[in-house]
Amino acid sequence: MAAYVLVTGGAGYIGAHACKALSKAGYVPVCFDNLSTGWKQAVKYGPLEEGDLADRARLDAVFAQYKPIAVMHFAALSLVGESMSNPAKYWSQNVNNALNLIEAAIASECKNFVFSSTCATYGDQDGVVLDEDTPQRPINAYGGSKRAIEDMLRDFGASHGLNSVIFRYFNVAGADPDGEVGEQHVPETHLIPLMLDAIDGKRPALTVFGSDYPTPDGTCVRDYVHVSDLVDAHVLGLRWLEHDKGNAVFCLGSGKGFSVREVIDASRAVTNRDVPIIEGERRAGDAACLVSGSRRALSDLGWAPQRSDMATMIADAWRWHQAPEYEY
Ligand code: UDP
Repeated sequence: MAAYVLVTGGAGYIGAHACKALSKAGYVPVCFDNLSTGWKQAVKYGPLEEGDLADRARLDAVFAQYKPIAVMHFAALSLVGESMSNPAKYWSQNVNNALNLIEAAIASECKNFVFSSTCATYGDQDGVVLDEDTPQRPINAYGGSKRAIEDMLRDFGASHGLNSVIFRYFNVAGADPDGEVGEQHVPETHLIPLMLDAIDGKRPALTVFGSDYPTPDGTCVRDYVHVSDLVDAHVLGLRWLEHDKGNAVFCLGSGKGFSVREVIDASRAVTNRDVPIIEGERRAGDAACLVSGSRRALSDLGWAPQRSDMATMIADAWRWHQAPEYEY
């Protein structure tokens, strides 16, 4: 019998890459997505079940139909800036939808849950290299809502035996090296795709959000991971759940920080084109520096990132960006 995995947000950037990785590993990804920010054309590796996580009856029907062995929960609102201007949206949708999903999973005896959490749960920690044991002090509603879901998973682990792997992502970049799926958001808010738009004239310029941070060149420092490496960790996390059970947290970063200016310089080198930039104000909710190691994922899951060097991530993103499929 097919081993189905319910992938919420499977039509989005990371979810679609995860569906490909699951399919390559022998699972059948069932994409559950309301297509509010995802793309039907990105669902290529298993069935699409259109639905909203707020709709418990719809969720129950999908669990009953496929009897998935696990859930991978990607679907969420994820814009830091928006979460600062409209925190109610983040607290209500992200948290309530996750609760609905967890309850539906438990009701259908699906006890394995992989959750996409974020380094935004740490807040601003002044140059500390973050790891799984660093205290979480979110400074925006996006990070706060994700931390609440982490707490929820631990509580349901204790009360109902729900096994969970929580991945705290750092900045995800790049695209499938085979060019089958890639990154496309509307609206786009992420540094690398916006920069590629500025490079090829789709936008007039990239605005650098703040040059007065306490970092070496004054711009924010982030730790970037290739999306294909990131989703490989999810398959390893799923295997861990199938064999080990329990509740675990893993940070997924490359261990190296890049400032906004360093990312711009790397893009100039990879694309051999100029990046028109505008010096702008700080963006609300941004931490100065978010960098992590991935020691636990490397040792406990045997994770071995292959493509998470900056030049490869930009080259893969650039190839996708220039491909005809770029417009989903
Ligand atoms: N950034 C920027 N200009 C942009 C978009 C992002 O300077 O148009 C900066 C942003 O302030 C942050 C970094 O680039 O320091 C990465 O931002 P992104 O939105 O890609 O990811 P986040 O760190 O918010 O998850």
